[in-house]
Amino acid sequence: MKEFDAIVVGAGPSGSEAAWALGKRGLLVGLATDSLDSVYRLETTPAGDPPANSLLELAWSPDPWTLHRQAKYALEAEPNVHLFQSSVAELLDDGGQITGVRTWEGLEYRTKVVVLAVGSFLGARLQVGELVEEAGRWGEAAYPDLYHYLRSRGFGFEEASYAVPQTPTTPAHTVRFHRLADWDPQTGRLPLAGLYAAGRVVLGHKTPLERALSGQRLGKRLGS
Ligand SMILES: Cc1cc2nc3c(=O)[nH]c(=O)nc-3n(C[C@H](O)[C@H](O)[C@H](O)COP(=O)(O)OP(=O)(O)OC[C@H]3O[C@@H](n4cnc5c(N)ncnc54)[C@H](O)[C@@H]3O)c2cc1C
Repeated sequence: MKEFDAIVVGAGPSGSEAAWALGKRGLLVGLATDSLDSVYRLETTPAGDPPANSLLELAWSPDPWTLHRQAKYALEAEPNVHLFQSSVAELLDDGGQITGVRTWEGLEYRTKVVVLAVGSFLGARLQVGELVEEAGRWGEAAYPDLYHYLRSRGFGFEEASYAVPQTPTTPAHTVRFHRLADWDPQTGRLPLAGLYAAGRVVLGHKTPLERALSGQRLGKRLGS
């Protein structure tokens, strides 16, 4: 059984930056993602200066696919970060203190710190006209396990959504999902010792750059 100083769930901008900041501070980090193809996946490269010492600064490109590729390579090359493709289905705890995570294959990874950075993927529904799919973003399935687990453990949620206008390659659609309530914006904590969150799963409709920054801030705080 692998043991980490911290496990980050979700490798979008917020999770990737949290893992990067933790790893750069010498912590051994497990970074779990549903798909390695969606690491730091963005529709467009964020406008504005990338935060100093961020993964975005290192991997920056005006082309979002190049940014994705460079971010993935950088994470894979960082000795303190173990990036792996798997869906986290459950959290493990002992008397209210996080002790690890369990993936949908049944593998367990030990840690005392978990960061949930799962974006718009908790209990997500993507609607195109009358058609509704279990997807947290265009072309990306949202697996229900973690959402059902958190609900069964009494975590509170707020409903959230964002509408995406038609593009040359995709029809107009709306993503509805659940944001974690009971989150402390000062500390990033959720009501289970050792459990934190960053990014869209808690922060609302701010920009991808702000979501990336929220992950970096949390990673810096937890790593100091
Ligand atoms: C093509 C495209 C178009 C977009 N259009 C818009 C738009 O019009 N408006 C808008 O506001 N935003 C849009 N976004 C989304 C925007 O980029 C996100 O808001 C931003 O990426 C959120 O960052 P995040 O890190 O919080 O979460 P995300 O980038 O969503 O990252 C979360 C990651 O967690 C992974 N994950 C989820 N659950 C698990 C689990 N249980 N185990 C392991 N991994 C898990 C997911 O696979 C995902 O990669 C778009 C994104 C893309 C790619």
